[in-house]
Amino acid sequence: MVQRALHPATAAVHAGRPAGAGMPLSPALVLASTYLADGAVDYGRGGNPTWSAFEEAVGALEGGDALVFASGMAAISAVLSLVPLGGVLVSPESAYSGTVVLVDELQTLGLVQARRVDVTDTDAVLAAMTGADLLWLESPTNPLMGVADLATMLPAAADAGVIAAVDNTFATPVLQQPLTMGADVVVHSATKYLSGHSDVLLGVAVTATTDRGRDLGGRLATHRRGHGAIAGPMETWLALRGLRTLHLRIERATTSAAVLVARLSEHPAVTRVRYPGFGAMVSIEVRGDAAAAEAVCAGTTVWVHATSLGGVESQLERRRRHPLEPGDVPENLIRLSVGIEDVDDLWWDLDTALRSI
Ligand SMILES: *Cc1c(COP(=O)(O)O)cnc(C)c1O
Repeated sequence: MVQRALHPATAAVHAGRPAGAGMPLSPALVLASTYLADGAVDYGRGGNPTWSAFEEAVGALEGGDALVFASGMAAISAVLSLVPLGGVLVSPESAYSGTVVLVDELQTLGLVQARRVDVTDTDAVLAAMTGADLLWLESPTNPLMGVADLATMLPAAADAGVIAAVDNTFATPVLQQPLTMGADVVVHSATKYLSGHSDVLLGVAVTATTDRGRDLGGRLATHRRGHGAIAGPMETWLALRGLRTLHLRIERATTSAAVLVARLSEHPAVTRVRYPGFGAMVSIEVRGDAAAAEAVCAGTTVWVHATSLGGVESQLERRRRHPLEPGDVPENLIRLSVGIEDVDDLWWDLDTALRSI
């Protein structure tokens, strides 16, 4: 039979499914710490059949070899450990706060030398790569929606011998596949869109199948086993179940996001709309201060006031309410994660809350 690369919509539905007569359509949820001796896996910190099913599916979507981790941060921490002691890490000055804080900590401990870059400034990123060990990118960035020119930066990193890693949480493999553009590693907070139902914490790192002999996947698997940053089988099973509808959720949410962006851009209570032109994440700045933005978040009834994103339910939050959120995020910025509800209900609810300030 001729094999062909399947479209993401097909891979999302079928990848990782058990094969063979009499097998269940859905992979088994294997709850086991220990396996009978002499098999491929002997202890649960090294592997799990439910992990393998999820990894096969995410790997098919991103076009690489996936490893599931306990959370997005566990995956990010593992990838940053690829920087040799005291080595140079190029990383975004503005990105997901957890990553910014972790890089600060590694720098303070003297484990890495961090070079901060504005990921929207391609020349600055290219210049910072000289002599670097690892380039960490996030695009679009959380929550300022900065977009990195991955098509230019990733091949340049490969030419310079710099390991290139991309946090693809906001775009998902439905909209952006960095490995096809030359990245060595892609990371997700699978807590967000991949699982999609706000009921699990999970992370994943996907390495390029051809990684110039560096065995990054092997090193990340060793890190996962040794540091114990392992995913629960139940969480992994739920994430795979959620992943089956990723393409539909993204299709719906991105269509609604575009409609909302057009209307928000005309709204008298909104001074700025940050939208990369794709995806379902949007940040707005409201007329007024932090209190005005908090009032909007408290004033919705359909949109959920909560700190995460990528779920079926629309969520909103003023990011600066978190003490660790970087200071370049405006006080009046509200991050919107557009869900899959009816877009007119979303608009009515948001418009009502915005008009109240
Ligand atoms: C949430 C998030 C993370 C962290 O993931 P956890 O699963 O919460 O550990 C990393 N990167 C981005 C872009 C995120 O939004």
